Amino acid sequence: MQLPERVTIHEVCPRDGFQPEERWIPTEEKIAIVNALSKTGVRKIQLTSFVHPRAIPQLQDAEEVATGIKREPGVAYDALVPNLRGAERAAAAGVEVWHLMLSASESHNRANGNRAIAETLAGFPAVIELAAEHGAEVHGGLAVAFGCPYEGEVPLAQLEKVIGEYHAMGVRHISLGDTTGMANPVQIYRTMSSLRERFPDCAWTLHLHDTRGMALANVVAGLQAGITEYDSAAGGLGGCPYAPGATGNVATEDLVHMLHQMGIETGIDLDAVIDVARRLRKTVGHELESRILRAGKVTDLAERVAA
Ligand code: ZN
Repeated sequence: MQLPERVTIHEVCPRDGFQPEERWIPTEEKIAIVNALSKTGVRKIQLTSFVHPRAIPQLQDAEEVATGIKREPGVAYDALVPNLRGAERAAAAGVEVWHLMLSASESHNRANGNRAIAETLAGFPAVIELAAEHGAEVHGGLAVAFGCPYEGEVPLAQLEKVIGEYHAMGVRHISLGDTTGMANPVQIYRTMSSLRERFPDCAWTLHLHDTRGMALANVVAGLQAGITEYDSAAGGLGGCPYAPGATGNVATEDLVHMLHQMGIETGIDLDAVIDVARRLRKTVGHELESRILRAGKVTDLAERVAA
């Protein structure tokens, strides 16, 4: 099996994980979680979203979080920037990587942003210009890239079309979201192989939700297609307020555990991530989807038997 030797994990718990939580998470706790994650060896952390506070009340403290954390050298911090107003806020808060959001299907884009794909796209050049002024890097996110809860299949031609729009604006880092866990491994392998061929100058991230238990299998398919960057959320938190039935992201501890078992490096201290996940259980006050939190590591079992 041909696999990469090293994988980069982009930790999205502070944004995607916290976003759907109904109970208010105090700002100090959000900051403490980011600071703890910064110490795990993870190289990229998504802090928050600069959406309108009324749209996602849980993330209304975006500025306080972005400016209140202790920045760890070597860690890149990014945030979701949905529009020019959000971009101005991200710039003022000193966020260095701006993550744009667009849906691969019209229906999801409407549900998520209340506008057509073309209207969302029309707002991006001003954001990209502002990013250049502030020296911020722009990444292009694409939700429901592998299936839409309203429309079903998202044809490859549609995916190529919207990625082409990002590409034409100079965006070279594309993040593809399986927002509601509809992708299967064969689909991931075929889609990513063909996108890499079609857009050879792009860097890719896969953002996989585990709604139907396919996320880790999809990671392996992504690895086989040569994809080396994956989003995940400590504790497996997450969902999508605009995607019915969507449950969590693949858990960072489950992903890191699997990759390390496969001999793939992440640079992450797995025990440190597990500690954060344990804390998160208290932070959100409910059980988590994390398998490793429930079952322990494979190596824990070996130690128990040896003892
Ligand atoms: Zn997500």
